[in-house]
Amino acid sequence: MKHLMPPLPYAPSALAPLLSEETIQYHYGKHLQTYVDNLNKLAEGTPYADMCLELIITTAPEGALRNNAAQVWNHTFYFDGLTPTPKAIPAGLQKQLCADFGTVEAFRTALQTAAAGLFGSGWTWLVLDADCHLRVLPLSNAGNPLRLGLQPLLTLDVWEHAYYIDYRNRRADYLEALWQLTDWERVASLSQRPPVGLYY
Ligand code: MN
Repeated sequence: MKHLMPPLPYAPSALAPLLSEETIQYHYGKHLQTYVDNLNKLAEGTPYADMCLELIITTAPEGALRNNAAQVWNHTFYFDGLTPTPKAIPAGLQKQLCADFGTVEAFRTALQTAAAGLFGSGWTWLVLDADCHLRVLPLSNAGNPLRLGLQPLLTLDVWEHAYYIDYRNRRADYLEALWQLTDWERVASLSQRPPVGLYY
């Protein structure tokens, strides 16, 4: 099974000015394309060639194949989680966030503090755990919560390639832009799914 580029669910310029067309063209068009190409090369002729992304991520040993599969999954999830027409956090999700973090503002602080403080490259996730509690989880490099049996709801890419064109070293400003572009309706709908299904 050849892995294909996932469609970008909006025009490359649609998130500007918070994320520029140039950033999306590099991030989606070049970085993600490279992960897809590397994954296909590494999987070819191996038992992983016919596996979906989730299965590779959860069964392959640590190494380049698993890393590239996770990077394809993570980027697909990241781009799908942003929207050019963001809306307020739905009431049901607000209630869930308040139950697990105290207030929505406390959740925002927890999420952004974890993402700002992640040393080096990686991803900061909002996940649903086995007890249906929301948790913020920073993971380095190509980390993916599916490996931990956690259900991803939202991810923030904090690799420098995600923000350096627009924000240079100002990761906190980029995180603020992501907050504004997040598709909270998608987060809310994912939080209603039965735990750990197939996404891609
Ligand atoms: Mn990235």
